[in-house]
Amino acid sequence: MTQLIHRNLRRTPPTAVCAFGMYMRDKDGNTYMDASGGAAVSSLGHSHPDVLAAMQAQLKTTAYAHSGFFTTDVAEELAHRLGTDAPGDLNNVYLVSGGSEAIEAAMKMARQYCVENGETQRRVFIARKQSYHGNTLGALALGGNEARRKQFEPLLMTVARVSPCYEYRHRPAGQDPADYTAGLLDELERTILDAGPQNVIGFCAEPVVGATLGAVPATPGYFKGVRALCDKYGILFIADEVMCGMGRTGTLYAVEQEGVVPDIVALGKGLAAGYQPIGAVVVRDHVVERLRNGSGIFQHGHTYNAHPVAAAAALAVQKIIKRDCLLGAATVRGTTLRRMLRDAFGAHPHVGDIRGRGLLVGLELVQDRDTKRPFDPDLQLHAAVKEKALGCGLMVYPMGGTADGKRGDHILLAPPFIATEADLAQIVARLSDALTRALAAIA
Ligand code: PLP
Repeated sequence: MTQLIHRNLRRTPPTAVCAFGMYMRDKDGNTYMDASGGAAVSSLGHSHPDVLAAMQAQLKTTAYAHSGFFTTDVAEELAHRLGTDAPGDLNNVYLVSGGSEAIEAAMKMARQYCVENGETQRRVFIARKQSYHGNTLGALALGGNEARRKQFEPLLMTVARVSPCYEYRHRPAGQDPADYTAGLLDELERTILDAGPQNVIGFCAEPVVGATLGAVPATPGYFKGVRALCDKYGILFIADEVMCGMGRTGTLYAVEQEGVVPDIVALGKGLAAGYQPIGAVVVRDHVVERLRNGSGIFQHGHTYNAHPVAAAAALAVQKIIKRDCLLGAATVRGTTLRRMLRDAFGAHPHVGDIRGRGLLVGLELVQDRDTKRPFDPDLQLHAAVKEKALGCGLMVYPMGGTADGKRGDHILLAPPFIATEADLAQIVARLSDALTRALAAIA
């Protein structure tokens, strides 16, 4: 029997037959509120007529142009827009087909930058524990998600690792947040020194951690400190904004709220809001100038680089975000959603933390609120919440806790920026129902 391979090889997921606005419907007639935008992708909701029209118009003119032969106006305009709206001199844009490809391209550009600087000995990346940067081998090597890495470890390059900035679990009660931040920066500096600063290519981190930790912003000053260390030791700072970028946290680039300019930013997901697969690498002038004045070539490339229809979708999405003031909406709705969640779960015995920025919102579930002890990971509470939520007509993005107690199960919410207050209230009500049912199911 021929078959489509799904991630779960034993179970075929429901068949989606139609999607509109906040909602998706399956073949059996069930309707779901998409409160997670898939995996923080659908920032405009589904079937936005203006995006569909832009894609159709592009399809009618040039559906495909190999980037080795041609550029297209639509790809140029998108690049111009992303560069213009980026902080500092992040003026240069390379278009790929998704988040992992963006991270791969970022890593390769960073390494090539070192080589063209005559620093061929630089081969160490530093990233954080419990991070996720994608599933291709380079991106997987960069990430510190142990479960995803485990069986591929022998194939992955070695990456130096530092602790994530994860206040809820790692800042001891009573410790001044500034001291906690200083400790993390000390650890990063020690790691750079241990590797030998002359050997380090760059440091990569998500400005707001998405799936692995569940919407965790950094403490104030953390990224300023990271930038200062990268400058001090001449290493590149790569911001992974695949999940948190493109308005999800209320500014187009999440780092805008940190007041720093990374050397390279990786984008994906919200760039075209799911209408087409596309990612991007946004790069500062000095990096690209080094390559331009050196070999003159970026030693990289994929068949679908700068795909015109994907670029048309992304351009339309970006125009709509600006036209409809959706960055402001993401900020305001995010605050409202967190308030509603606090009202509903603020005293819940198993909701340890409610956090996030803009419309990237997370709930961490714990067995014991006082000790923050997570549930036994074998109970698979996160999976139970996902399943019960689907039963309540709600899509949420789950992530499991770890056996060593380094994080609890958590639930990520990433509704579209067009969500109304009534939609948010509905999300919270359905989640409350789902959580009650999930906790009963694992009891
Ligand atoms: N980086 C981050 C922070 C992500 O959340 C993801 C996907 O979840 C990726 C990279 C990889 O993106 P993609 O799944 O589009 O390859």
